[in-house]
Amino acid sequence: MARTIVPEAEEVLDRTFPVLDKGFVRLVDYLGGDSRIVQAARVSYGEGTKTIREDKGLIDYLLRNEHTSPFEMVSLTFHCKMPLFVARQWIRHRTAKVNEISGRYSILKEEFYEPQPEQVCLQNKRNKQGRGEPAGADLAQAFLNELREVQQKSYESYQKLIDSGLARELCRMVLPLNLYTEWYWTMDLHNLLRFIKLRLHPHAQWEIREYARVILDLTRRVAPMSCESFEEHWQGGVRLSRSEWKAIQPHLRAMFDQIELSDEKARERLREKLSESL
Ligand SMILES: Cc1cc2nc3c(=O)[nH]c(=O)nc-3n(C[C@H](O)[C@H](O)[C@H](O)COP(=O)(O)OP(=O)(O)OC[C@H]3O[C@@H](n4cnc5c(N)ncnc54)[C@H](O)[C@@H]3O)c2cc1C
Repeated sequence: MARTIVPEAEEVLDRTFPVLDKGFVRLVDYLGGDSRIVQAARVSYGEGTKTIREDKGLIDYLLRNEHTSPFEMVSLTFHCKMPLFVARQWIRHRTAKVNEISGRYSILKEEFYEPQPEQVCLQNKRNKQGRGEPAGADLAQAFLNELREVQQKSYESYQKLIDSGLARELCRMVLPLNLYTEWYWTMDLHNLLRFIKLRLHPHAQWEIREYARVILDLTRRVAPMSCESFEEHWQGGVRLSRSEWKAIQPHLRAMFDQIELSDEKARERLREKLSESL
């Protein structure tokens, strides 16, 4: 089979999709698509190409059952620009290949992320990692004034130190976490979907969720069937603990006949899950 060309992906190649106030995501290239996953998976069974409906069913089966290696045959490369604090979270996804702008080589631009006032919130009282209620106009304005003052002062220091002849790798130490950085980022589809699941989750910071949302839209262009199954089983599904399942399984069993599921196969899978003993 020749190189996979996906017309919907070709349409968005090299187009810049803005994220936050000065950031972006751009799909630079892709390798493979849904058809490559199907083709790779069928090596296991030695079968030829089937209908689109059967391909969709196979992809759904693979994803549902975490037979993930065929998804690693697809790879996407993005050019992304994001604040440093977002990049710190992003880089934890270790299976990517990354090349970032060098602050040792280049003079870093005076580009800082400034949140919209409605994104300026109080500390969440229940979730220690997150935002809570909006801070209100006065506090939001005070935060933004402080932020602007600090970033302006720090960039002036940076320029002064650069002009003094000091090495760029040292001068950058005065710059804050909301400075923008850029990188090329290549990820296989299996780990990319994992990244999207974790970084689209409401527990992830709002700013990185904005990037994950755009990345999912672009990934959908490359592998729409995989993304649909991902949304159904990984993103849209829930994981229950043993105790939770033990508590609700008998109730669901008892009311199985009243449960409406339009898809007969899905209904059969639910019946199987409900009949499994713990
Ligand atoms: C909401 C949220 C809050 C977080 N808070 C914190 C925090 O406070 N502090 C913090 O440090 N991190 C934090 N993280 C980061 C988190 O702990 C993970 O490091 C990050 O999400 C990457 O996940 P991953 O390991 O599945 O991804 P990847 O690194 O992309 O790994 C993908 C898969 O490959 C496997 N893998 C990759 N590298 C190795 C390896 N060397 N050895 C074995 N297996 C490997 C992983 O097990 C995983 O299954 C947070 C993440 C989220 C989503």
